[in-house]
Amino acid sequence: MHTYTFNLHGAVLNESISQDWDFAIQEWEIVGTYEDHGSTCTCGKKNISEINIIKNKFTGATLKVGSQCVKQFMNVDMFVIHANVRKIAKDITKSVNRPTLWFFYQQGVITSQEFLDYVEIFRRRTLFLHQSNFKIAINQKILDFQQQTKKEATNAIS
Ligand SMILES: [Zn+2]
Repeated sequence: MHTYTFNLHGAVLNESISQDWDFAIQEWEIVGTYEDHGSTCTCGKKNISEINIIKNKFTGATLKVGSQCVKQFMNVDMFVIHANVRKIAKDITKSVNRPTLWFFYQQGVITSQEFLDYVEIFRRRTLFLHQSNFKIAINQKILDFQQQTKKEATNAIS
C-alpha cells in the first residue's frame, strides 16, 4: 500500500467507530469544500488546493482531504465540483453544472425548488433580468458557503 493511502486509512480509522475500512467509510460524509493553496491532505500529501471537509456522522470528527483521496471512499467527483465553483468565482454570471448544483443541494445550501429553477435556466444563452439575478444569487450562496466552510475549518482544524 502506498504511504499516502496508508496514512489516509490510518487517520480515518482512528476517528471511526468501525475498524473495518469498508464499514468505516460509510460513517463519513462531505460537509463542505473550499480552495486553499498550499494545504496538506490528511494523507500527508502537500500543496493541495482543493479541500474537502469530511465529517464522521457518529463521532463528529472532521478531516481535510484532497479531491484525489476523497475518491477512496466517496463516489463523487470533487474535481468537477471544484472546477465549477472556480468558474463562478471568476465570473458569477456563469453557470455551475447539474452535479455541482446537486452537491450543494445535498449540503443544504440551496432548496429543492432552487435546484429545479436553476436547472430550468442554466443552459440558456439569454435570460430575463429576474432569471439572471436569480442565478447570480444562487451562485453567491455557493461561494458564501465555501467561505464559511473555509473560515470554520481554519478555526477548527489545524
Ligand atoms: Zn490525500
